[in-house]
Amino acid sequence: MVSPKTLNSSVLENLALPKNTYAFLSELISEFPQFKFTLSNRFKWKYPKSIYIDVKTPIPPLYFSLQTLHELGHALSNHKDYQTDIKRLKMESEAWERARGLILSHPNWKTDYGIFYDEEFAESALDSYRDWLHNRSKCKTCGLTCFQRKNGDWVCPSCDLL
Ligand SMILES: [Zn+2]
Ligand SMILES: [Zn+2]
Repeated sequence: MVSPKTLNSSVLENLALPKNTYAFLSELISEFPQFKFTLSNRFKWKYPKSIYIDVKTPIPPLYFSLQTLHELGHALSNHKDYQTDIKRLKMESEAWERARGLILSHPNWKTDYGIFYDEEFAESALDSYRDWLHNRSKCKTCGLTCFQRKNGDWVCPSCDLL
């Protein structure tokens, strides 16, 4: 377990990160000082300004960087809480588009750190959300596909409405 700790250069130096990953994170932290980069045991964005980075698994470095950019994508999109799962899926896709945009606007990342937008990686992350959504939408009692109300409640057309 990694205890939450705000990332700065001295914390970074104590982590056994690949050199490029270290340099990349340092660059992000200085380019986006409005956000708080925090060590964690999972990747996560928390409104209004916390970007949690999973430092246990910096391998392969490309995926690590892409996932970090994805969380930064949520941050730059100013994502808050979502009411429905469909909205969440939309946010996930938006965050990936932001990550793509960031990579396009930083051509040096490719030369310096070997970072490029890996469509397959992003799509498989989105797929896991789609699967999750699909599983969540099944009624635990009868297996029918439920629908979600605007307030976030799931309703089974059979068990809850008949
Ligand atoms: Zn996300
Ligand atoms: Zn049901």
